[in-house]
Amino acid sequence: MANISITRRCRSGCRYCFARHEMNRDAAADMPPEIFAAALRFLRNAGIGEVRLLGGEPTEHPQFVAYVDRARRQGFRVIVFSGGLIPAPALAFMAGMPSDRISVVLNTVDPTEDPALLERRQREVCRRLGTRVTLGVNIRSAHQQTAHLFEWIDRYGVQRRIRMGIAHPIWGASNEYFRIRGPRTIPLLERIVTEAGQRMVAVDFDCGFTPCMFSREFVEGHPELFTQPVPGPPAANRTPDRNDGSGGHDRPGHSIAAEAVGMRCAPIVDILPEGDCIACYALSRFRRFPLPANGGRDDLVDAFNRQLLPVLPLGLHRECAFCDHREKGVCGGGCRARRALRLRPDAATALDPAPNEKGIVA
Ligand code: SF4
Ligand code: SF4
Repeated sequence: MANISITRRCRSGCRYCFARHEMNRDAAADMPPEIFAAALRFLRNAGIGEVRLLGGEPTEHPQFVAYVDRARRQGFRVIVFSGGLIPAPALAFMAGMPSDRISVVLNTVDPTEDPALLERRQREVCRRLGTRVTLGVNIRSAHQQTAHLFEWIDRYGVQRRIRMGIAHPIWGASNEYFRIRGPRTIPLLERIVTEAGQRMVAVDFDCGFTPCMFSREFVEGHPELFTQPVPGPPAANRTPDRNDGSGGHDRPGHSIAAEAVGMRCAPIVDILPEGDCIACYALSRFRRFPLPANGGRDDLVDAFNRQLLPVLPLGLHRECAFCDHREKGVCGGGCRARRALRLRPDAATALDPAPNEKGIVA
């Protein structure tokens, strides 16, 4: 997998936005057509059949419709990651597309915290796009309200599937992220999975979850989520609308169904509007490389890994060093951006300069 971030524009203003550092950079707001064409070539060369459009809010790119159309004509399936503030022409265009050629992952509000206007717009997106929509939820606190997910699934006929992410820190930046304090377990996660199971709703985990966020009983009772990858059919056989943030973790020769939740931190490759590539947004202040003209995605992933591995601690907690989940190979030590939180302030890791509030890189 690789994502194409076609614009830095966004009006949602999520405090936990993990693209915050990138959104504030004094760089191209919108991806120009020649970079988009190069990004499509990059995907094709990597054997990737999905175009995953991110932002910012990708539907705000002035050429969003033309870009989706171009990707579609080249045979790609298109996945749009949206916060729901979708301009009317883009919404009408997607509503007219066959649902097997486009899907929209809607990053839903917390109705108890977010503006009512945003919730109304998201409901409208669900109403108009129906089965094209998969609801996403970013867990930002242990007490987050999630009941609306199931209500919307039943009411609007969107996919019976939830993509669950967790608000990540950005290494070296100041977004609001889910802070793991005290007990490692997050009972909310188990409650969502359990209720989803009762309602015949699938849950896909994005990157950054670890077995220690769940009780021992839950881990043992759900081997399908936590088991080690086993040899199986190649990643090309994956479910097309699966969106768990682990698409970048396509591992030829391994069964996706058995891919462990705790092993989903690896460079995804996000292609930015100006054509630079980052490992993922949470690591956007670490290294960036230009979109390769000849090399492939694997080379980029190797380059990110080579530079990341020597500088980061083994895992995000001290006890990772002797954790049996790590020993069994079902946890990789958690989100690398969280691991970076354990670095000493004077650790000699050079980061990209931080933009100030006006978006000017100091
Ligand atoms: S290795 Fe670390 S992050 Fe993973 S389950 Fe064990 S304690 Fe948690
Ligand atoms: S560092 Fe890993 S877990 Fe964290 S956001 Fe990036 S890919 Fe996901």
